[in-house]
Parts: sequence; structure tokens; C-alpha cells
Amino acid sequence: MKENLIVVCGAGGFIGGHLVADLLKQGHLRIRAVDLKPLDRWYQKFDGVENLCLDLQEIDCCRQALREAAWVYNLAADMGGMGFIEKNKALCMMTVLINTHLLKAAREHGVNRFFYASSACVYAHDKQTDPNVTGLQESDAYPAMPEDGYGWEKLFSERMCRHYTEDFGLITRVARFHNVYGPHGTFDGGREKAPAAICRKVISALQSGKHEIEIWGDGHQTRSFMYIDDCLHGSQAIMRSEEINFPINLGSEEKVSINQLVDLVESIAGVKLQRRYNLSAPKGVNGRNSENTLIRKMLGWEPSISLRTGLEKTYAWIHDQMKSGASKDSVVNIS
Ligand code: NAD
Repeated sequence: MKENLIVVCGAGGFIGGHLVADLLKQGHLRIRAVDLKPLDRWYQKFDGVENLCLDLQEIDCCRQALREAAWVYNLAADMGGMGFIEKNKALCMMTVLINTHLLKAAREHGVNRFFYASSACVYAHDKQTDPNVTGLQESDAYPAMPEDGYGWEKLFSERMCRHYTEDFGLITRVARFHNVYGPHGTFDGGREKAPAAICRKVISALQSGKHEIEIWGDGHQTRSFMYIDDCLHGSQAIMRSEEINFPINLGSEEKVSINQLVDLVESIAGVKLQRRYNLSAPKGVNGRNSENTLIRKMLGWEPSISLRTGLEKTYAWIHDQMKSGASKDSVVNIS
């Protein structure tokens, strides 16, 4: 297996970059990393890996990306946090071309296994109206009323995977990620998600001496957050599984409100800030949490890193980046 070619699509981004790092650590010898962005804007890039800049919305680029591939991880998407997906629904939906063309190329090239990164945004809106939400089970995606734009694209792409398996025998694996966070992700510029945005705002408040923070919504909305290492282990376990041929939750069950998330970051930073609530900012659904009965039963998988521990690592990394004046596009080159 270590000699087989693994292709990571979206490798210049947050999760894809970490996945390449992890595959290298495990001793995989042939890795191809693919992303739309020019190499100098990849969050992490590695020597000893075939790094390709390709637009995977184009079928010919997908054919080039997947040539000789055994396993494919599709983590490429035009996406971001609520601030991005609520204002860029058409762009989010254009990502459907990536998964569609990758599946087509995977079939043509006889790829053995194909992983698709779906999202908790596929879950039906009416199951997420209460901040005291009970965890979302896999079946809660139907009857369908996902997040407009981004969620519809994810749900459609999930079904494309299913039908490629049923009709053409391509082995596909689909994980529904619930908010992934950690170092080497975006923390400014408009695509950042809540944990990184809150870390940045707290650090900015400390740096400027202006001890206040803007919170999107009333702060009562709830979510769970999964540290990147847990996401990597879970994704690869799902990919290796012989049985999980349906979309499955991959997330933490540690539900917190956004106010509690701010409490945690403040306590890591050792500061208390004046809170200003922006009720007209994008805030997403009122309550969302993962329900892990299925993945626990099938893989014995549990997140291993608490929100506090994961946030400490994330905060420290963003703090270093901001102190050195780096932006979200700063790149780590590892030989
Ligand atoms: P990211 O934005 O950091 O990475 C995605 C990468 O895809 C980017 O580097 C981008 O340049 C690349 N990309 C976009 N369009 C492309 C194209 N046409 N061709 C080639 N590359 C292209 O996002 P991420 O957080 O690493 O997310 C990875 C996957 O996981 C995505 O599918 C995302 O929807 C999904 N997901 C992420 C989260 C999360 O919390 N991070 C939650 C749910 C689902």
C-alpha cells in the first residue's frame, strides 16, 4: 500500500495540507498534492511530494490529477465559514464541478477508493432550530433542507458518490465533517471559521489594548468543534473501512455556545473582553451537534482532543502568526 499513489485534492488548504503531512509521517512513498492556488499560497507544502497546481473544476485537470491514482481524497472546495458561505452561494455550488469531474476521472482511471469530505451543513434546517439541539444523526439529512448553496452542493455530491458506487462499482467513502479547527488554517480574510476568528479577535484586542470583541449573533447558538488530528485519524479510518459505504458523521459531541467558545479563548489568553453582539451578521443555524453512535459502533472512533486543548494549540499558532505579521496565506515549507 505504501507504494500506491495517493492523491490529495485541496492539498493547499487546511485539512488537505495536514493530511499530506500525516501520510508522509506514515511513510507513504507516492503522494500527489493538488490545489488551485499557486504553490506560494499553500498553507503547507512538502518536498518529496508531487505538488500540482490545477483547477479541478476542469475535467482535463481532474484526469491529469488522478492519473495512476490508487486512492483519492477529495478535500477541494471553494468554501469558508458562515461569513463566506452565506454571501457566496453560487461560488459554493460551483464546487459541484470538482466532485463530479473527479468522480468521472476516478472511474476512467480505475481508482480503487475515493473519499469525499462532506459537511454537517447537509443536515435539515428544521432539526437545528434550537440551541439545545440533540446530536444530529446521519438520517437527519432527509427530508432534505440543507444549508442553502454550500449544503445543497454537499448533499448532491454525497449522492453522486453513492450512485457512482451503485452504478459503476467505484468504492466511495463520505465523511460529514463537523467544524474542524487547528493550526495552519485560515484565520483572517473572510473565509475563517468561528474558532480561528475568535482567537484572532482576542489576540487583536490584546495587541491593540482595546478590550472588546464583536460576536456574530447573540452568542447563544451552539456548535461542536473537532480538532484537526481527530479529523485526520477519523477520515483515514473511514477510508480504510470495508463497511462504511454511506455518509457518516465525523465530529465532536462536545457542544458549546459561541459565548462559551469566547469564554474558553479568553481564559487561554488570560483576558476578559467587553462583548458587542452583531445581530445582523451571518450566524447560521441556532444549534448543531454531532451524534457519534454509528462511528463509535463501526470504528470505535472517538475524538481524543478536548476543545480546551485543541484551542490552546490553535491560539498559540495564530498568536505566533499575528506576532510575526504573517497573514492567512503564510506557508510552511517542510523538507
Ligand atoms: P480549505 O479552504 O482550507 O481547503 C480547500 C482547498 O480547496 C483550498 O486550498 C482551495 O484552494 C482548494 N480548491 C478550491 N477550488 C479548487 C479547484 N477548482 N481546484 C483545486 N483546488 C481547489 O478548506 P478545508 O477546511 O481544508 O476543507 C476541506 C474540505 O472539508 C472541503 O470540502 C470542506 O467543504 C470540507 N469541510 C470542512 C470543514 C471545516 O470545518 N474545515 C467542515 C465541513 C466540511
